[in-house]
This record gives sequence, structure tokens and C-alpha cells, in this order.
Amino acid sequence: MKCPNCGFEDTRVVDSRPTKLNTAIRRRRQCEKCKFKFTTFEKIESTPLVVVKKNGSNQVFDRNKISRGLVRAAEKRNISQDVLNNIVNEIEEHIRLSSEYEVTTRQIGDMVMKKLADVDEVAYIRFASVYREFSSIDMFLSELQTMSRKNKKKRSQLAKNSMSTFAARKK
Ligand SMILES: [Zn+2]
Repeated sequence: MKCPNCGFEDTRVVDSRPTKLNTAIRRRRQCEKCKFKFTTFEKIESTPLVVVKKNGSNQVFDRNKISRGLVRAAEKRNISQDVLNNIVNEIEEHIRLSSEYEVTTRQIGDMVMKKLADVDEVAYIRFASVYREFSSIDMFLSELQTMSRKNKKKRSQLAKNSMSTFAARKK
């Protein structure tokens, strides 16, 4: 990158680190010629992302929608706001880095579920039951089994927690 001080073409990166929210990379550069130091930020391109809904209509990606779903699922669970924010950040970054700026609500939902499964089982089941629209206890149990296979150790505890969560939600 060209030196903003003397215009020399060769500048060297002397330090490189993510910004606080991990949504950009901050680089300290130094001009090889005049030793001038300056900072650049490498950020994700802010082209609007298009989300394709189940009924085929489009809308602009809105990270607040994911946040709201997560906050609901995490209610009264011991999950910090940072952890939830991080999930949303990771998902947004993942979409922006990997797609052609178009993603389906189903893909987003699957990503959220994958991440929640690692964080908190009850929050995962809550999110899954809303997102997958479990209409019967059978659907719910089969989701539970899929998850339990991935995590055999906690199976019995998970089943216990989740059954009471499901029962509470149905009231
Ligand atoms: Zn220079």
C-alpha cells in the first residue's frame, strides 16, 4: 500500500490484529523509505445481504432478528450477552465471506442451531422448537435424539431438562 506521507510504493506491515469486536483487522504499516507509520483497517464489504424467506420473498439481512431469537432462546440461561453477540457476528461474517450475498432463512437457522448446540442445550432446544416449528412431541423427540447422539454423555440430563422446557412452553 502506498505511503500517504511520501507516496513511496513499498510499505511494510509491522503489526496486525483484530479489532475489539473482531469484525475488522487493524494493520500498522510503515513506509520503507520515510519510516512514516499509519494504520489501515480491513473490513468486511458492506454490501447488503439478501435473505430469501421460506415463501420465496426477499428481505435485507437484519442481524437484530437473529439477536432477538437468541435472546429469547437464552432466557434465564447462564449465557452472557457477549457469547450471543459473538454467535451473531460469526454468522454474519460467515455469510459475507462465503456466499454470493444471498442466503436462505433455513441456512441461517441451521447455523444458529449449530452454534447454540455448543453453547447451551436448553437454549438450543428452545430455538430449534421455534425455528423448526415442532408440531408434535414426536418431531421434538427425534430432534432430541439427533442431538443426544452427538453428545452421549449428557443424554439423560439433556432429556430431562428439555422435556421440562418443552412442557413449559406448551402451557
Ligand atoms: Zn513514506
